[in-house]
Amino acid sequence: MSNAPVTCEALIIGAGPAGLFAAFQLGMAGVSSHLVDVLPHAGGQCAELYPQKPIYDIPAHPRITGAELTDRLLEQTRPFSPLFHFNERATSLRKLDNGRFGVEMDSGLAFEAAVVVIAAGGGAIQPKKPPLRGIEDYEGTSIFYAVKDKAAFAGEHIVVAGGGDSALDWAMELAPEAKSLTLLHRREQFRAAPASVRRMRQMVEAGRMDFRLGQLRQLIGENGQLRAVRAANGRESFEIPATRLLLFFGLTNKMGPLAQWGMEMQGGLIIVNTADFETSIPGIFAIGDACVYPGKLKLILSGFHEAALMAQKACRRVHPDEHHTFVHSTSSRLAHKPS
Ligand SMILES: Cc1cc2nc3c(=O)[nH]c(=O)nc-3n(C[C@H](O)[C@H](O)[C@H](O)COP(=O)(O)OP(=O)(O)OC[C@H]3O[C@@H](n4cnc5c(N)ncnc54)[C@H](O)[C@@H]3O)c2cc1C
Repeated sequence: MSNAPVTCEALIIGAGPAGLFAAFQLGMAGVSSHLVDVLPHAGGQCAELYPQKPIYDIPAHPRITGAELTDRLLEQTRPFSPLFHFNERATSLRKLDNGRFGVEMDSGLAFEAAVVVIAAGGGAIQPKKPPLRGIEDYEGTSIFYAVKDKAAFAGEHIVVAGGGDSALDWAMELAPEAKSLTLLHRREQFRAAPASVRRMRQMVEAGRMDFRLGQLRQLIGENGQLRAVRAANGRESFEIPATRLLLFFGLTNKMGPLAQWGMEMQGGLIIVNTADFETSIPGIFAIGDACVYPGKLKLILSGFHEAALMAQKACRRVHPDEHHTFVHSTSSRLAHKPS
């Protein structure tokens, strides 16, 4: 595709919590933004991996779910009308002769931006999949890698496969409403928190859910509707009724092409200057889980702080001839603009 590029002040790559708050902070600093995300919605890990799980360490929100936090962040950006482009994966970047950046998506959509803010987390989020024949036929109907809507699991025969926190948390959470629930794990040891393992074993003893030792071998069903799974433990092979299969084998999230954009990297993450979160390429910033510096904590809170400092420098890059003063949100005309 050779359409003219979309011209913008800031292009934010990733609409997770860091990217969303970056749009707010840039807006406060007088910079408009476009956001791109490979997912079909905003919220990053919060929306994709744990929308209904409570988060307890967001200041002034003693308890807020991933989905609620995403909604609040979207609401907060609204006065600045950022433009969202979903299902778009940023693949290439080059510095243009005019000093701006040309960024291309794999769809062919292109942007020309004064500054680029990489808020891509650990890269495009993808669940690890077991090598099961025909798995794609059931994805989104019977097989899931995250729980977005608990109601879709009520009254079903559920098999949860995995031994980490997500597997145990969801097995225990879904068991009360399920027709049957079986946790399937390849060994007796779990990666999940010991307290969760104890609670799971109590539920199994009380007959409120089942636990089977084994590995998935075969999917049984037709037309995208799963009926059962076949699993094996050594030589023993057995079938478990399953109309819903939840797979928690971890995630892969590689930076992919972003890592080849020429910024200095460390351990697959982008090295930043902690004064302003600029990378080794002036005009390209990195915030949230995507960046690394001494003492970095992969917390939502850290991404918010990083976004605030980034915006102070980014606005000087976008409008170098303007006088910039720091303004509290309470005094900002921009933040009060009705949405
Ligand atoms: C189960 C779980 C529980 C957690 N609990 C907490 C908690 O209690 N408190 C806490 O502070 N943190 C928690 N975290 C961590 C927190 O979710 C992350 O620190 C936070 O999501 C990082 O935000 P981010 O915006 O930097 O990245 P992400 O949320 O990862 O968002 C990055 C976005 O960028 C997109 N993207 C990546 N590459 C591209 C590309 N090339 N083109 C277009 N889009 C791209 C991705 O699709 C994604 O939507 C938890 C994480 C998990 C998995």
